[in-house]
Amino acid sequence: MTETKSSALFKEAQAYMPGGVNSPVRAYGSVNRIPRFITAASGSHITDADGNSYIDYVCTWGPALLGHAAPAVVQAVQEAASRGLSYGAPTEGEVRLARLVTELMPPVEMLRLVSSGTEAVMSAIRVARGFTRRNKIIKFKGCYHGHSDGLLVKAGSAALTTAVPDSAGVPQGCTKDTLVALYNDEESVQRLFEANRGEIAAVIVEPVAANMGVVLPADGFLAFLRDITQKNGALLIFDEVITGFRLAPGGASERFGVKPDLVTLGKIIGGGLPVGAYGGRRDIMQLVSPLGPVYQAGTLSGNPVSVAAGIATLETLASHPELYAELEAKTSRLAASYRAAFGRRAQVNQIASLMSVFWTDRPVTDYESAVSSDTGRYADYFSFMLDRGIYLAPSQFEAMFVSAAHTESDIEQTEQAVAAYAKTL
Ligand SMILES: *Cc1c(COP(=O)(O)O)cnc(C)c1O
Repeated sequence: MTETKSSALFKEAQAYMPGGVNSPVRAYGSVNRIPRFITAASGSHITDADGNSYIDYVCTWGPALLGHAAPAVVQAVQEAASRGLSYGAPTEGEVRLARLVTELMPPVEMLRLVSSGTEAVMSAIRVARGFTRRNKIIKFKGCYHGHSDGLLVKAGSAALTTAVPDSAGVPQGCTKDTLVALYNDEESVQRLFEANRGEIAAVIVEPVAANMGVVLPADGFLAFLRDITQKNGALLIFDEVITGFRLAPGGASERFGVKPDLVTLGKIIGGGLPVGAYGGRRDIMQLVSPLGPVYQAGTLSGNPVSVAAGIATLETLASHPELYAELEAKTSRLAASYRAAFGRRAQVNQIASLMSVFWTDRPVTDYESAVSSDTGRYADYFSFMLDRGIYLAPSQFEAMFVSAAHTESDIEQTEQAVAAYAKTL
């Protein structure tokens, strides 16, 4: 497997873009390899500039739940593009996408489309503050909610491996109202509510944490958050940018039976094009401009081409509910093979089509146990798999995404590579 072209491109890229990339995790900093420059992707496979083909478990970090270049999605995009790329005016497509989301996700009675998950979360927090007339929010250590100033506190994702967990350039004033609790630790939340009575606008959580690797909520944890927010007049925000449409058609709120006040969406909702959304209770969303006093806007919000990709993706999911059982079966089979191959050397967390292998012998249930992982071992494993045509996230703290396009044979090839790696240990 050669990497001549990727290597040359990476070198040139570094002259023009910080680290040669437009999002830090892509630089392969924590695995010490040359990032693959991608030329095409189709189904479960991704192809690089040197012509190497890989089974892809990054799936563009989540959006490609149907696999890459799903024909229905590509066709919808082509048709939309031929009618113009952006109008800056309302369209029927936006109405359809909004209706689809509200049908699939009952907690979302009304929503706003934006262009990224970051924007969705930032806006949801603004609405929560506007609604409660309070400023403080609680987030969890290791949960990632995009790169807006107020949320870059103990964030997950690339912030865990780039050694700048709290970014430079964020004034203290921007994060003074961000309180940090521990995921799966009810007491840590309780204490913050007690110390800040009547001041907490919202609790924001990834219902399944997927930016410190995949960490499942403990039994009753989400219900506890529902309860404590309700008792204290605070809102509960589920950041479903990863879990939305993935854990179930209705996301985590459906899967766990807990109803948040607000939901943020991204990734799958755009089917590979830039879309985000925030929505929830009608009485809260009615505060958004022009109906209410909470300002939020976007030149490309509800972009017709992105919206077409979103509709095609969600319609496919809505009309093929059997996909969810298939995804779960494939992924749990893969998880079982990992467990069999690595035994106690690794912890495998899995739910629906999300999975993580943590190189630690401690069960991973929170931030502390996640970061007990041996990231050097992860880099070694990553490299071994890459050289055998398996494209994984270049970080211990990102999820493995399985798509509807992954075949039996893809899973088998992956299992073989895993077994071969286990022999090297
Ligand atoms: C990816 C992600 C975001 C940010 O979305 P972008 O589209 O990258 O801005 C926010 N929250 C969660 C849970 C995410 O995984």
